[in-house]
Amino acid sequence: MKFGSFTFQPQKPEGFDLHVFRVKIETGIRFQPVHDMVSNVAVFADNVAVKDHPDWISQSPLGPAKIGNPNFNIYWNIVCQTQPEHRAEQLKYIAEVDRQSPGVCLNNQYFADHGHCTCSRCQELWKNSGLSWLEWRRKEVTDYIAQIRENVKKDLILSIQPDPVTSLERYGVDFDDLAKYADAFNVVMFSKNYATPWYFEMLTRNFKKLLKKPFYISLYVYGPGDNPKDVPTPAEILTVSVRCARAGADGFLYLTDGASQMLDYQKAVVADTQLRERLRSYGGKPVQEVLDRVASWEKIVK
Ligand SMILES: [Zn+2]
Repeated sequence: MKFGSFTFQPQKPEGFDLHVFRVKIETGIRFQPVHDMVSNVAVFADNVAVKDHPDWISQSPLGPAKIGNPNFNIYWNIVCQTQPEHRAEQLKYIAEVDRQSPGVCLNNQYFADHGHCTCSRCQELWKNSGLSWLEWRRKEVTDYIAQIRENVKKDLILSIQPDPVTSLERYGVDFDDLAKYADAFNVVMFSKNYATPWYFEMLTRNFKKLLKKPFYISLYVYGPGDNPKDVPTPAEILTVSVRCARAGADGFLYLTDGASQMLDYQKAVVADTQLRERLRSYGGKPVQEVLDRVASWEKIVK
């Protein structure tokens, strides 16, 4: 089982097997890659691209993929999946980022959501394809991932939404198609609390059954500008880690702004000896691996 950090700052918290740095976030802002941190790139979610090219935004019968459109769970502006200039530029950018890092982790590398995209270019591409709507969308996503794979020489981690059943209908994502190109998946399970770990554990079982490549689960620890009262408690994060581990997760990526918030989390779980003791009874080897990792942090937090 692998344990990774997933940070907005180019910082490497101690006690992890890999470090993922968010070099291009959904706002479209870009940072310099770091040679020993995997680079995370948001591909089509890109506020800067949409600001510079308002006509690139993804369209649907329920309105555009724009922040504030309550028909979708969208917190940024999303470029149409077939926009040729954006595709070409991102392909080049991802290849460059790969050269400068030990690998690439992508997110938003698919359609914005169900019903997207109905811009005039997409309608024409669909009509000319002779395929059904869903098959055409699937082909657009898969073909682009195949092109990315040709350009990424190191590890390629593909993030997916925590939707095991309707990812094809919503995003054009077919897990088997993507498994041909991905070294690993990253199932994003960000939440501001994990008070009911049962849901996350169940989703993990679903993905274990479906995914043909190892998968990480991303868990939310502390984002930029968060109020300490609004983030999951360390006890919740450790408990949900154990429960997802026993359901088959191959690793975890813990999201924080930087190294100091991760250290706060590590200190808190190391100190919670009662919880660590109680979680021992939750399962076999995978549970033990999570608890052993926490034990290994004892020397870091001193
Ligand atoms: Zn379109």
